[in-house]
Amino acid sequence: MKVKILKNKNLLLVLSAPSGAGKTTIAREFIKKHSDFSISISSTTRKPRGNEKNGVDYFFLSENDFKKKIDDGQFLEWAKVHDNYYGTSFNEVERIREMGKNVLFDIDVQGGINVKKKYPSDTILVFILPPSPEILKKRLLSRNTDSLAVIEKRLQNAKKEIKMAMQKYEYIIINDDLTKAVLELENVVSAFERKIEFNEEVFREWLK
Ligand code: 5GP
Repeated sequence: MKVKILKNKNLLLVLSAPSGAGKTTIAREFIKKHSDFSISISSTTRKPRGNEKNGVDYFFLSENDFKKKIDDGQFLEWAKVHDNYYGTSFNEVERIREMGKNVLFDIDVQGGINVKKKYPSDTILVFILPPSPEILKKRLLSRNTDSLAVIEKRLQNAKKEIKMAMQKYEYIIINDDLTKAVLELENVVSAFERKIEFNEEVFREWLK
């Protein structure tokens, strides 16, 4: 008899990182290779940047509308990040789960911790870091999109996120090479899917 490893259908894979760590690129590469995952589209009060489109990159909301949604209990999690509100709606996660897909979240550490609180056994918390603090600063400077003051603020926030991730996150990936980072993420998911609790049917088969 061949042992069949059952795939867990509803994983919630959370990727968090200081800005400039390359998290969004890793998420997009991962999705390209794994059509059984879909990225959760967050809502935010921040203004669209460059080519960003409503309903594609984010649902762009006014602060009033965002706060109304908080009061209505529509968010699975929400947080204030760099002076703007960001949140994941229950609707968005349900939309992806109804397609029978796993959900990939590109959200901050506070958000990840809250997803884990709501769905403890389905959530994988992965923290991504650049190879060194110096490289992070260089990457932020070379983006040329932010002022020095904004970059300093992002570096301070990075420290706060790293402290929280150290206590609450489960896996770390150092992003010094995109292909390697995606491979490591695949390994993390693969190890998680092999947990005994998701594969009880295999055991039952043997114990018949
Ligand atoms: P950006 O404005 O650069 O797109 O995102 C800023 C930060 O907000 C990033 O760390 C991003 O991961 C985080 N973020 C994006 N969407 C959400 C969300 O729905 N919830 C939380 N908690 N953080 C989010």
